[in-house]
Amino acid sequence: MAKETTTKKTTTAKKSTKAKAETAVAEPEVSTTVATPEANINSADRTIADKLIALSRLQETFTKIDHIKTLRGELPLEVQDLEDEIEGMETRLKHLEEDSKRQVQAVATEKAKIQKAQDRIEQFKEQLNNVKNNREYDNLSKEIEFQGLEIELSQKRINEGNTEIQHRKERIASLKETIAERRVDLEAKQEELSRIKGETKQEEEALRSEVIRLEEGIEERLLHAFNRIREGARNGLAVVPIDRDACGGCFNKIPPQRQVDLKLHKKIIVCEYCGRILVDPELVEEAHQHN
Ligand SMILES: [Zn+2]
Repeated sequence: MAKETTTKKTTTAKKSTKAKAETAVAEPEVSTTVATPEANINSADRTIADKLIALSRLQETFTKIDHIKTLRGELPLEVQDLEDEIEGMETRLKHLEEDSKRQVQAVATEKAKIQKAQDRIEQFKEQLNNVKNNREYDNLSKEIEFQGLEIELSQKRINEGNTEIQHRKERIASLKETIAERRVDLEAKQEELSRIKGETKQEEEALRSEVIRLEEGIEERLLHAFNRIREGARNGLAVVPIDRDACGGCFNKIPPQRQVDLKLHKKIIVCEYCGRILVDPELVEEAHQHN
């Protein structure tokens, strides 16, 4: 019931302003004769404008805090990512080095086998000089042939092993290089993070006290609406200027009549698409100048 009355009053006020404005263009002296009601409207307008200026300042302060949070918010994540990446690469490096060690040992084992086979061949060859029959000769020849094949097999394994070792050596070297590069990145980011933390600590504290100071000057109902809109807005903007006939928050076009209403500062106007509080850019300018 009370709401209806208010709406009716507003409509009447609007109509009379319009009529007055038209008269004022035709006969400027008429407006000066009705000084009392006009002064009242002006002070009412001023109140809405003041509220919008206060909201704009609050928005601006919150935007600065959001910016600090963004700066800080991404860096710890980047630092964490780099630390995880380096840890992963170090695990891979450890495995590669262990593999490499195993390969070197395997090659050494095969080399020892060759030495053993060569020693045996020497022994058999000596025995060949003292053979008593063909059977003995054939057996010894077969043994020598077998040891020869064993040497060939070991040689093949050594060659394969050496190729693997070389391959791993290259991977280890390139991995070590990458780890060193990442460590440089990590150090830089860690430094940046601690610098920002140090630098912005005071700034953020100052902005937070500014928020408290500004909030004290805004009526509770309006502040509640502001906070509700801000929480719902993806970019944290509850108060936006009109920019090129569009809402500065969602970029939808604002109908001309709404823009006219906005310039009059008779009531707080919200965007019909995103619900953000709209302000006249000139008023935002004013808010800046007196800030
Ligand atoms: Zn909008």
